[in-house]
Amino acid sequence: MFESIHFESKGRRTTTASNPDVLAALREIVGDENVVVDPARVEPYGADAVKEKFPPEAVVFPSTTAEMVAILKLANVHLFPVTARGGGVGYTGGAVPVDGGIVIGTDRMNKIIEINVDDLYVVCQPGLTTFDVQTAVAEKGLMFAPDPASYKDSFIGGNIAENAGGMRTPKYGVTKHHVLGLEVVTATGDVIRTGGKTVKNVVGFDLTGLMCGSEGMLGIITEATLKLLPMPEATSTVRANFHSMEAACKVLTKFTPEGLLPMAMEVIDKYCVAAIEENFAFGLSKEAGAILLVGVDGSKEEVERNAVTIERIINENGGFDVIRARSKEEEDKLWDVRRAISPSLMKYGTLKINEDVVVPRSKVPELVARVEEIGKRHDTFVANFGHAGDGNIHVNFVVDRDDPAAIRRARECVAETFQLSVNLGGTISGEHGIGYVKSQYMHYAIDRPTLEIMKGIKRVFDPKGILNPGKMFI
Ligand SMILES: Cc1cc2nc3c(=O)[nH]c(=O)nc-3n(C[C@H](O)[C@H](O)[C@H](O)COP(=O)(O)OP(=O)(O)OC[C@H]3O[C@@H](n4cnc5c(N)ncnc54)[C@H](O)[C@@H]3O)c2cc1C
Repeated sequence: MFESIHFESKGRRTTTASNPDVLAALREIVGDENVVVDPARVEPYGADAVKEKFPPEAVVFPSTTAEMVAILKLANVHLFPVTARGGGVGYTGGAVPVDGGIVIGTDRMNKIIEINVDDLYVVCQPGLTTFDVQTAVAEKGLMFAPDPASYKDSFIGGNIAENAGGMRTPKYGVTKHHVLGLEVVTATGDVIRTGGKTVKNVVGFDLTGLMCGSEGMLGIITEATLKLLPMPEATSTVRANFHSMEAACKVLTKFTPEGLLPMAMEVIDKYCVAAIEENFAFGLSKEAGAILLVGVDGSKEEVERNAVTIERIINENGGFDVIRARSKEEEDKLWDVRRAISPSLMKYGTLKINEDVVVPRSKVPELVARVEEIGKRHDTFVANFGHAGDGNIHVNFVVDRDDPAAIRRARECVAETFQLSVNLGGTISGEHGIGYVKSQYMHYAIDRPTLEIMKGIKRVFDPKGILNPGKMFI
């Protein structure tokens, strides 16, 4: 077993998922070819972007809601853990079966059922990537707004279960703001329908909202009705250098008094800039203590006017080398720098602990300054970048994977950063969720009575503890 830096295994649950009768029943439900037990083929389903391995006993690929119901009913009889998986690019081990059992691959549930232009919604299965959905609705002149950077790999089911955010969050919000209704198979094998096809719907408790961010612990999403918007006519991006992260982050609050709500506001610190330049040679300035990227969308006139105002505000507030994209190609080039960060950071070590803390955006300068101080105090390299416009910063502690003392220091840094974020009025995760990686820190952000309510909700949906055990609560 791979040694996890995030998880002390209490031993995998003895399950019956590898019991020949159970495997025969699973094959009966989904067909022989859709139950995979070969260790080499199963192994990739034991890891996500955290890159720690907990292989399942089997991977099962249903294609209908009826098959999903039958699998969960079987699990309730034989009491084996079931973990749903989307694209498998989560950052908190959510799709990883730490307690054993089966993984349900949703890859075959990949159909668009309806795109309704008049009523502005799309009905789809959970196994489509975000990119698939965006592309299908774009052909009708519509936009599905949530845009996690993983949009080409992550699935709609995973996005909903993690309540994913993205670059466009400052203007458009996160995934839950774009989910109108869901079909869900609960842990007991019941099918429930939440919400509907309308933007307004206040009948009963908001179970759609509850499912968003439920990390595959309450039910498996088998169908989603997603809200669509008209595709904006134009977009533009302004990129600028600043002498420090503090200076770049201080600009974030200067747009609102001018009546502006940029679609995206991203910051990149000097360590990221140096790593990107070394890897990709974009020609970034050595003087750049930080880079700020600001994106706007709307009508052509509005975009032009707003981009000019943004340039002016940036120039008035310490920005230099300000560039404004004049075409889609130029815009893509400016964003290429942002996309290059994650792979480039591996220059600093073999293990990148990527956190996604969030604070009220006016507190971002203080967060970043104090995180640097935490890194220095624990002799740990730290680089910061992220969605500063909504206060969600990716704090990356980078160490060597084979240096246990360095890993221990990095974990101290993580704990202090989480406490700091809560103290600044924020919380420990803005978009990646908890999974098994952050379960030990839940109590930093959630008080005991609230945590007990959450555990109670879990018991109502999943009395036998079948769905995704070992996550969120310890
Ligand atoms: C390079 C990179 C960039 C990223 N950028 C962003 C970003 O900008 N914003 C952001 O929010 N995240 C980002 N992430 C994190 C990740 O991509 C998101 O959390 C994404 O939503 C996960 O989707 P997935 O399909 O890969 O889910 P998985 O990792 O497969 O699963 C995640 C969770 O969802 C559950 N789940 C999956 N499918 C279902 C279903 N049908 N029903 C119920 N539960 C289900 C799983 O059990 C698990 O708990 C990034 C990750 C990487 C590697």
